[in-house]
Amino acid sequence: MSLPVADIAVPVAVPKTFHYLVPGTLRASLCEGSRVLVPFGSRKLVGTVVGFAGRAEATGLRAIIEVAAVPVGPELMQLAHWMADYYLHPLGLTIEALVPKGSARKRMRRCLRLLDGDHDVNAIRGPKQMEILLLLLERQKVAMEELKQFSPGTIKALCAANIAGIVEEEAEEERDLDFSPDMPPPLMTEQAGAVREISEAVRSSAFTVLLLHGVTGSGKTEVYLHAIASLAGSGKGSIVLVPEIALTPLLLGRFRKRFGGRVAVLHSGLTDRERAAEHERIRTGQVDVAIGARSAVFAPFPKLGLIVVDEEQENSYKQEEGLRYHARDVAVMRAKFGSAVCVLGSATPSLESFYNARSGKYGYLRIANRVDHRPMPEVEIVDIKALPKVPAYSPRLVDEVRQRLERKEQSLLLLNRRGFSSVLICGDCGKSMQCPSCSVSLSFHKSERKLKCHYCDFHMAPPEKCPACGGVSLKPLGTGTQRIEEEVASLFPGARIARMDSDSVRGRDAYDKLLGRVDRGEVDILLGTQMIAKGHDFPAVTLVGAVDADVGLNLPDFRSAEKTFQLITQAAGRAGRGDAAGEVVIQTMNPGHYAFRHSRTHDYEGFYEEEIQYRHELGYPPFRRMIKLELKGAREKTVLESATAVRNRIRHLLRDKGTTLLGPAPSPIARVRGKYRYQLLLLSAKREVLRMLAVEARCAVEDQFGRQIQVIVDVDPVNLM
Ligand code: ADP
Ligand code: ZN
Repeated sequence: MSLPVADIAVPVAVPKTFHYLVPGTLRASLCEGSRVLVPFGSRKLVGTVVGFAGRAEATGLRAIIEVAAVPVGPELMQLAHWMADYYLHPLGLTIEALVPKGSARKRMRRCLRLLDGDHDVNAIRGPKQMEILLLLLERQKVAMEELKQFSPGTIKALCAANIAGIVEEEAEEERDLDFSPDMPPPLMTEQAGAVREISEAVRSSAFTVLLLHGVTGSGKTEVYLHAIASLAGSGKGSIVLVPEIALTPLLLGRFRKRFGGRVAVLHSGLTDRERAAEHERIRTGQVDVAIGARSAVFAPFPKLGLIVVDEEQENSYKQEEGLRYHARDVAVMRAKFGSAVCVLGSATPSLESFYNARSGKYGYLRIANRVDHRPMPEVEIVDIKALPKVPAYSPRLVDEVRQRLERKEQSLLLLNRRGFSSVLICGDCGKSMQCPSCSVSLSFHKSERKLKCHYCDFHMAPPEKCPACGGVSLKPLGTGTQRIEEEVASLFPGARIARMDSDSVRGRDAYDKLLGRVDRGEVDILLGTQMIAKGHDFPAVTLVGAVDADVGLNLPDFRSAEKTFQLITQAAGRAGRGDAAGEVVIQTMNPGHYAFRHSRTHDYEGFYEEEIQYRHELGYPPFRRMIKLELKGAREKTVLESATAVRNRIRHLLRDKGTTLLGPAPSPIARVRGKYRYQLLLLSAKREVLRMLAVEARCAVEDQFGRQIQVIVDVDPVNLM
């Protein structure tokens, strides 16, 4: 007797699908997208039906066991196929990234494995405790690092002590949900125009991408809210992607006020069960809007009308492990497959998106004026090179801060990134303390008296003696935010200073608290990394100082000028959102650099013209596509050999004149977590060429080096470090 055969994508790292028999009981219920439990080797895995392959005798082939979960809808299946093909990732694993995870237990085990394997999983058995521990980790009440130092007994006690707290907190969060309806303000002319175009595009049900280019404070969020409201009653859902959900409580509040309970929020603090429940509400039409970071692009609305990607230029839309997708680009494709509208919103669009708008591929909506025609802040460039001794704070900036203190206004001081923090240097041999497994210096955290690696979890107490020469005069060097804070405190005695970076503000609670203090005027000077540059509305802030604006310019990344221009513009957007006018002071040794020159005049187009010229000359995106191949392994010699093998294998395939191979070269951070890394960059205007080369490269390494070397294919990379 012959039985029908299904073609099933199984979540394993092989680029193919597998055949299974469909038992009689399931024949009527299976379709493309069905999620089914299948035997795979000695395991049982949940796979996805991707097609049917005729009939076969019931010999040899194994049979599907049962239906395991709700099916993946046709549009998402189409998206999964596109992603698997575009990002060169196995289909089964791609689908896995689209659907909510199954069991919390599996993830708990992974967490526990990360705890150095010291802990006996069974010692803290009991689903309740696992769940709590997971929650504590997810809500960042406790860090993985701390957890590592606890004994199983302590962990048990920690769980017990927190049950009550978590239950209470959840109840409180429910109570806090403010569903009071909110009267939208009348729109400004440019806002109304944008809303009209978006709504019309949605109504026409034709795939459209619109770049909403609105200066900071131009009311883009209000445009999203109105556009979404105009979909009411159409039965079409909306997705709003934000770069980092935990950092946008105000934005969430605005959506909840406008749309009440018909909003689903997908954030990383959800447990797997909560996430699955939100997906269910979306799938069954109980919500109209889903807001979230990257993965919300997969919100399973049966019918989608609109996807908004807010701050579309943000790098955090790129997933940097596993399936390395760019949520903005996936959003565009999702809109395409669903005949929906995708709105990309930004004050400083990515070069790629602006280029697409210029070339007519995307529609273009411009909001050139701030709400209520508040003026843009004045930008001052201070050449610190011209000063007799290069200070952390120029007299000009000090003077401006002082004036703010007198007028009871707030100042924001922006530091580039925490990687630029203090290191411990040996006064005798000049060597800095290095991470034993990554080729970077350890950062010195004074308040905790600890040296920490910012690439892996390594940390240690500062040594008494230099490990290289035995010298005893170790001292901190560099301008970390902590040192800068001390300097600010001595420059402005009596000022109330707060620091905001991912070391000092861990988790949403701490973050909300700090924002509250700034809001209530309890802080005079707010210091921080790029975290403070983004998205907030601080009406009393009238000064933004970019303290070390040059740091970002000197990173080995072809987008460093773009990122610097964006950061300065975003930070400038924080100044003068209230009634008083704002001012920005940029300290730099490159006052003539176009990234600064054009920020001074708020001239995005001016910046774009110079930057696009440079991209064109060097053949960088958007003129050519890029794939990064990263080779990783425990022995440097083998990694280099594999990189050379890749080059030799594909070099003769570079017949196409417009195709370039760069490298191999050690990655700018050549060793991470004990693994050596080499990278090659492939550039070509033709995607098919790039893809063929990448596949060839992967084969070359697999043939010759097997499992010794890991090959990571990163399509459209944003991180070249
Ligand atoms: P953007 O996202 O473009 O920086 P927002 O949408 O956050 O700007 O708007 C900035 C501020 O202006 C917010 O406080 C918002 O409530 C307010 N706002 C937006 N549109 C209007 C309007 N039409 N009338 C009055 N206030 C508005
Ligand atoms: Zn490290």
